[in-house]
Amino acid sequence: MGERPCIFCQIINKQIPAKIVYEDELVIAFLDINPLALGHTLIIPKKHVENIFDIEENDLQHILVVAKKISLKIKEKLQADGVNIFQASGKTAEQSIPHFHLHVIPRRKDDGINWNQWWLTKIKKTNDKELDEIVKLIKIETEKKPEEEIKEEKPRERTEEETYWIRRELELG
Ligand SMILES: [Zn+2]
Repeated sequence: MGERPCIFCQIINKQIPAKIVYEDELVIAFLDINPLALGHTLIIPKKHVENIFDIEENDLQHILVVAKKISLKIKEKLQADGVNIFQASGKTAEQSIPHFHLHVIPRRKDDGINWNQWWLTKIKKTNDKELDEIVKLIKIETEKKPEEEIKEEKPRERTEEETYWIRRELELG
């Protein structure tokens, strides 16, 4: 079996469906499939780079601006008082997927997240319907060129097998 292609690049290319909350020409943001809190979002550059050592400054700056937009939405729509912004680069830092990603993690009082040992925090059980509800609440529409609007098709649902592999990959790191 050959090497599997980068899972985040497949999300960018719409080969794997994701719960997208923001997209423009440089970045895409979607809900984490293993959220620490409801609304836990990942922001990634569309250009495949592994980590903070490789990412272009322009992309990095833009990701942070998008992180602010999403944080504001999360605060407004998902009853969060705060957010943690988190990024892991390198195996030693427990980076799971080798494609740069910035976590935006909503925080609420008594949410059970122990930030000193965040990796011990239980992943929140969630489902497609719940994630869709969150997308509805926090999705930020970007302006599209008319031809893109026409081309856009309804994303298919993720198959159970795909969900299984994505979860496995995220769990195994
Ligand atoms: Zn990639």
